[in-house]
Amino acid sequence: MPDCLQLIADIPAFVESCKLLQSEENRCTIEDEIAFVDGRTIRRFSSQIRDDRDRYFGRLYVFEDITVHKQAEQALQQQAERERMIYEIAQHIRESLDLDEILNTTVAEVRRFLQTDRAIVYRFNRDWSGVVVKESVAEGWQAILNMQITDTYFVERQGQSYQQSAIQVTSDIYTAGLSLCHIELLERLQVRAKLVVPILQGDRLWGLLVAHHCSAPREWHPLETELLQQLATQVAIAIQQSELHQQLQIANQQLENLALIDQLTQIANRRCFDRTFTLEWYRLMREQRPLSLLLCDIDYFKQYNDTYGHAAGDTCLKIVAQTFKQAVERSTDLVARYGGEEFAVILPYTDTDGAVRVAQKIHEAIQALALPHIASAVSQYVTLSIGIATVIPSYNLSPVDLIEAADRALYKAKVSGRNSWFTSSIFLI
Ligand code: GH3
Ligand code: MG
Ligand code: MG
Repeated sequence: MPDCLQLIADIPAFVESCKLLQSEENRCTIEDEIAFVDGRTIRRFSSQIRDDRDRYFGRLYVFEDITVHKQAEQALQQQAERERMIYEIAQHIRESLDLDEILNTTVAEVRRFLQTDRAIVYRFNRDWSGVVVKESVAEGWQAILNMQITDTYFVERQGQSYQQSAIQVTSDIYTAGLSLCHIELLERLQVRAKLVVPILQGDRLWGLLVAHHCSAPREWHPLETELLQQLATQVAIAIQQSELHQQLQIANQQLENLALIDQLTQIANRRCFDRTFTLEWYRLMREQRPLSLLLCDIDYFKQYNDTYGHAAGDTCLKIVAQTFKQAVERSTDLVARYGGEEFAVILPYTDTDGAVRVAQKIHEAIQALALPHIASAVSQYVTLSIGIATVIPSYNLSPVDLIEAADRALYKAKVSGRNSWFTSSIFLI
């Protein structure tokens, strides 16, 4: 006992605990742990010894070195904590496609788990220079976020040595056999010990997951290096997932565009018209502003095809579509191919007068094209008939009412000799 006394980590507490045990009145059995300064843990067991007439005789003490047991327990705890952390990060990665957020969580958790001063994600450029893209740093240490690391030695050597997915464990930069300029670089970053694992994308070295210990050298525990390696694998999955997601989004955008554009004329198709028309209808209903619609139909187009052929008919449709686009100015207006040789123009915030002006403009533009049409009964050129309808959308009407009104106006234009425009009021049904 006397030899051991100096080894007890908290002597005042120990002395206090002994006082209780020395009292004859205290019949309690005691079981506790005493920490030693050298890291050992001693279990103390103590119980009173009394004779068969219950007279106090003394105390029995059993001391047992449970250090190994304790360390195993701690290792288990650490293991459990590590598994929980990897599970959580993996879960996070599965749930989120936000790479930024995933990397932020990763560096924060790495630093917390390793109880270290800095954790970073470093990303390589094509020329093996690189940049710190994420960082979690303890107070009092220099932040190196967004720092470009262009040291040529670092760049050349590291780019190759990490290729084999090797983890690099450095417990002290001064005894690791590093070159002088490498040490200088690390000194500038305030690094004393470090753990570095590659983040791979297939064979490609994407970047590094790095833990820096700044305050002192540090012997890294195999559990810690293993953790970092496992996390780097998770991060690699997250990167791949997010890159795939980005590609998917681009592909979806392209598909969406494809689905809204008429392939022959390259203007909005019927699907796009329907969508926009409904949206504008409800928007202008809320704002109580007028919405106009033009339905335009090429005159005697069947004869055009019969005379010039279907391919020429297609070309004619393309030219007319582009002319429409030029004649309609406002960004909120939409020109769409409504059907075969029919075009629709949606004119939000436009009253009948405005819609008539647009119709006239379209007529003039088509006239100026002077596309020959010898089979037309109304002109020697391609002409259009236009039906115009305007309404301030309201609850007792539906978008179809406006389309039908424009259609009736178009019919009037057709029967009155074509190459003209007519308006129709939605309330005169
Ligand atoms: P109206 O003056 O009464 O409008 O007579 P129309 O001949 O223009 O009308 P109709 O509806 O009888 O014919 C429309 C023609 O448009 C028939 C069809 O062959 C042609 N058409 C529709 N879509 C296309 C297309 O994509 N390409 C070509 N070349 N022709 C088309
Ligand atoms: Mg038609
Ligand atoms: Mg026609």
